[in-house]
Amino acid sequence: MSSTRDYYEVLGVSRDADDAAIKKAFRRLARELHPDVNRHDPDAEDKFKEAAEAYEVLSDSERRATYDRYGREGLRSGGYAPNFEGFDVSDIFQAFFGGGGPFADLFGMSGASRGGAVQGGDVAVTAEIELADAARGTSAEVSYEAVALCEHCHGNGAEPGTPIETCSRCQGTGQLRAVSRTPFGQVMRTTACDVCHGDGRVARDPCKVCRGRGRRVERPRVKVDVPAGIADGQRIRISGRGHAGDRGGPPGDLYVLIHVRDDPRFVRDGDDLVTAVDVSAPLAALGTVVDVETVTEERVEVEIPAGTQPHETLVIRGAGMPSLRGRRHGDLRVVVNVVVPRHLGREQRELFEQLADSMSAHNLRTEEGVFGKLRRAFGGH
Ligand SMILES: [Zn+2]
Ligand SMILES: [Zn+2]
Repeated sequence: MSSTRDYYEVLGVSRDADDAAIKKAFRRLARELHPDVNRHDPDAEDKFKEAAEAYEVLSDSERRATYDRYGREGLRSGGYAPNFEGFDVSDIFQAFFGGGGPFADLFGMSGASRGGAVQGGDVAVTAEIELADAARGTSAEVSYEAVALCEHCHGNGAEPGTPIETCSRCQGTGQLRAVSRTPFGQVMRTTACDVCHGDGRVARDPCKVCRGRGRRVERPRVKVDVPAGIADGQRIRISGRGHAGDRGGPPGDLYVLIHVRDDPRFVRDGDDLVTAVDVSAPLAALGTVVDVETVTEERVEVEIPAGTQPHETLVIRGAGMPSLRGRRHGDLRVVVNVVVPRHLGREQRELFEQLADSMSAHNLRTEEGVFGKLRRAFGGH
């Protein structure tokens, strides 16, 4: 990652955006670029790191002021060098939950907003389904890692029956302040307390099950109803199935990103589906009936009228995808692929020659057909 894009541009906010707008913009980006959601976008990881760097700078008023006046150079001279290059994206996400990291409060897991109840972070997962399942509606099972409250200590991190005391390292503020000298004067940095992880309180006897963290990672399995007509890239929100909340706050939500696998038989165009059928050249001329497979594996007979041209499209009304809203269905458009034989047997060749002669005689109204002229021109019999 060697991006030098403007941090405001990276987050998509204006230069006078307030803290809430910056946070909101990063939350949105982080969710979009989460590695679980974006396995098929090779740039997602770099984009995420770029967004994380921008957020780390713009969410800190002093760093932001330095950046506004002196740009990246000013940050570097000030001793601040954001660098997520060596990190795994999931490690950066872990920073959301581990406390003390620059994103500690982003998903509401710990840190900055002490005291009140904090809603748990959202979780994003991907579910892959077949096109036919998207047409019928289906259910998908997803499994993911989520932070849950420790059942033994009910999330407070203390062995049951033992006291919880004010953190002596931070005097209960949950934050540590460090002053450093920079070319621009003194800079005050605030970090979450490394003893209480921003909570301000510590257990005298940490819970033996969770070692005082108050939470543990579990791997729930959730069944998701996927409505008929869903398109690739749409998300389903399942309320309350994200990470556990903090200090009695409600849990976050689960977002299931639906990935509809490509079906080699169909191309989707909104609610319409497009497919192709092969029809031999003589049958395209004479007219015929062909069997067309629909996405739900029914077979429909389609009349190919006499004189159908290559790539002419026939429409089977209502045989496309169901509409996600409302009852109407899209159509199935059938493109006729007129197949001209590449190799002919002797008998077939003679028949085609007769046909060609008769057609050219008829069409050109000459005494001899084009084939006859050709044959004479090339010295044939
Ligand atoms: Zn516990
Ligand atoms: Zn502390």
